[in-house]
Amino acid sequence: MRPNLPTLGGPPKRNPFGPVVAVSVILGAAAGGVWWWKQRMPDVPMDGASSQSATPVDAGTLAQAPAAPPAATDPVKAAGLERASIRIEGPLETALVQAAGAEVGPALAQVVTRTLVWWVRVPGEILRGDTLDVLYQRRPNEEPLVYAVRFISGKTGQTHRAYRFQPGGETNARYYVPNGDELELRMEHSPIDSYEQITSLLRDGRGHKGVDFRAPVGTTVRAPFAGVVKRKNWNFGSNGNCIELIESGGKGRRALFLHLAELPKSVQAGMRVSAGQVLAQSGNTGHSFAPHLHYQLMLGENRVLDPFDQHKTFRASLTATQKGAYEAEVQRLDGLLGTPVAGK
Ligand SMILES: [Zn+2]
Repeated sequence: MRPNLPTLGGPPKRNPFGPVVAVSVILGAAAGGVWWWKQRMPDVPMDGASSQSATPVDAGTLAQAPAAPPAATDPVKAAGLERASIRIEGPLETALVQAAGAEVGPALAQVVTRTLVWWVRVPGEILRGDTLDVLYQRRPNEEPLVYAVRFISGKTGQTHRAYRFQPGGETNARYYVPNGDELELRMEHSPIDSYEQITSLLRDGRGHKGVDFRAPVGTTVRAPFAGVVKRKNWNFGSNGNCIELIESGGKGRRALFLHLAELPKSVQAGMRVSAGQVLAQSGNTGHSFAPHLHYQLMLGENRVLDPFDQHKTFRASLTATQKGAYEAEVQRLDGLLGTPVAGK
C-alpha cells in the first residue's frame, strides 16, 4: 500500500519550512555553539501562526563555519554516517527536513517513525520538547538506513534507544533496545515466516488498515488460524495477488493477505486450511512500493482489528554469545550519538 508520511498535528504541506521547529545538525566542534544557540531558543507555539523567527541551522551552514574541523576528523562522517538532532516543536517530518535536508528528511521521518511507534503513539504522543537524535546513512534510490535512534519522551519520561544490529548467523539486521531485546514485538502464529522489519502498524498514524512486513519475494505466508478461503485476487490493480480467509469457529475473523506472489492453483474459494498451513508466498504485486506482506484482520465488513491485539506476542532476545558483539556496537553508536544536545 502507498506510504503516507507521518506527521505531527496536521498535513506537512501546510508549513513545510516554517519557523516553528527548532532544529540543529551537529557537526564536530560546532556542537558547543549549537548547544548554546539551542538554550536561547524561545518556545514557539505549535500552530505555526507565530511571527517569531528562529533561524534554522543546517548542515551546510555549519560545514562552512570557520570553527568547523576538517571533515576527516568528524567521527560521524568518518563512520560513513550522518546525524540529525532535533527538538520537537511541530511535525516530526518538518523537523527532520530542516535537520537533514528536503531530499532525505521525509523518508527519514518514515523510517524513524517505525522505531518510535514501539514507544509512543505517533503522532499524538510525540510532544513538544521531546528530543530525537538519529544516526543514519543516505542510500541512492533507497530509503536511508537508520543505525541508532535516541528519543527522550515527555510522554513516558524516559530515554528510549534502539540500535540496528545483525547478529551472527541471522539473515537480517534488526533493531534492538539496550538490554539486547528486539525492539519489535513478534506474533505467535505469525502470518509470515521471516521478515526484515514491520514497516507499518495500525497505530502509526497513517490510517493504514493492516500490518506491513517487509520481506523478500517468496517468503512463506501461513494461515494464522483454521479457516476457509473466501476469495482471491479481487481488486488486482491495488491488491495484487491476494487471499481472504474466514476463520472457522472462534470469532469468525477475516484475514486479508495482499501483494502476494502468484498463487498456486490449489488456492481456490472454499478451500479449507488449518492453522499454520502454507497459503502462499509473499510478493510485490499490485500497488506495492517494495516487497512486503500486507496482513489485515477484520471482524464483519467494517471493523478493523489490530493484529498485535489479536495475536499473542513475545519479544525475542539476543543470545548470550550474540550479546558481546552487540554491546560493542552499542558502545560505538553511542559514541557517535554523543550526549543529547538538542534537549531540555
Ligand atoms: Zn499495507
